[in-house]
Amino acid sequence: MTHHGLDLSNNPLLLKTLNPTVAVAMNGPRKGIQPRTFMDLDMAVPGPTVLYQIHYNIDHDGKYNTIAKCIANPKDSPDKGEFIRVAVDAVKGTFIVQVGTNGPQQRFDIQQPPPDLSQCTRIEIKWCEPVFDIAHSVPARAELFDAAESKYLESLRPTVLEDPQRIKALVDNISRARYRGVKGGVPRTPLVAQVRCYRGANLQESFTAYDPRLIILQGRWFDGVGFPGVWGLTPNEKTPELRPFILRADCANKADQLHGFFFGRQLDKEDYPGSTQWCDAIVQDDLASGHTREEAMGQFSCPAAGEGKCHYALNPDCKWNSAADVVLLFETKAGWNQHGGLELFTVDNHDPKGGCVVLNDGTVKFIRTEDELRQLRWK
Ligand SMILES: [Zn+2]
Repeated sequence: MTHHGLDLSNNPLLLKTLNPTVAVAMNGPRKGIQPRTFMDLDMAVPGPTVLYQIHYNIDHDGKYNTIAKCIANPKDSPDKGEFIRVAVDAVKGTFIVQVGTNGPQQRFDIQQPPPDLSQCTRIEIKWCEPVFDIAHSVPARAELFDAAESKYLESLRPTVLEDPQRIKALVDNISRARYRGVKGGVPRTPLVAQVRCYRGANLQESFTAYDPRLIILQGRWFDGVGFPGVWGLTPNEKTPELRPFILRADCANKADQLHGFFFGRQLDKEDYPGSTQWCDAIVQDDLASGHTREEAMGQFSCPAAGEGKCHYALNPDCKWNSAADVVLLFETKAGWNQHGGLELFTVDNHDPKGGCVVLNDGTVKFIRTEDELRQLRWK
């Protein structure tokens, strides 16, 4: 703090601009750290600030004093002449503040500026949307997209920015990121993109972007960035080209969720529910295990289809101990407790046309033609 922490100095704009991690007030027992400055350290400064004081301020007894462990000469012994020591560990990128000769130490991260990308002429963003990886990472979904579709999906994964205006929007946004220190591991939030920034042919920086609003650059975490909307980009379901694939993957997830019920019955009861009331049996089971009716009902509707309670039908010829590749569930028009054979199958819920089929072992296939449908095992 300047000038003992007096309100006369310490303009709120100065405090806001400095945005200190730690503030030290060289105050006396009756001089400095006045109420307005004390409050502004909390209210005017964007980040959290830890305040240290040389003395407890007896003029504001009980108020406008920092926490006891951050005061070198506390309330009941104001005259020991204790000091506050600050030591920088440049290797670790941290500094330590210690109160008195033997007082407690606290370690803080040295603030670092966000990456300076202002010289970049080309930025490559590789999106990590789940739909891009579902066919690779979940073996039971390997046949959800055919070879041409997988290739097309892969072509939608990268975004290359070369337009100076769009680069500037991204660079300005990153320049306002706040440093959060060096942390081990990875965040638990979803990975959004890998970003590589070039000047000409030279790679200048690369970082990973996580939801929400976090980037990590060589172990250093920065938050407060506003992608991808702020970057003027839409990698997710708002991208029209990606929409049918996301709907198909979501439909496969729903069908898989329904398969989970049948899998449980294989293990626990060695029996499947009667085909005339299989939807009711799933709802009952879900309600009994604490789910809401809304949650229970949500798993029956194909996200690509219109209205309707349930867009899946059960093949009554598939028993709990049938072979792994017998059709268990398949897409149909809207209804409830529907059951039967391939005559009920529909390709109309999806565009491009096709429908999800779940085999008895949980494999999900996307079937497009009559021929493919007949090749499946129905008994
Ligand atoms: Zn569907």
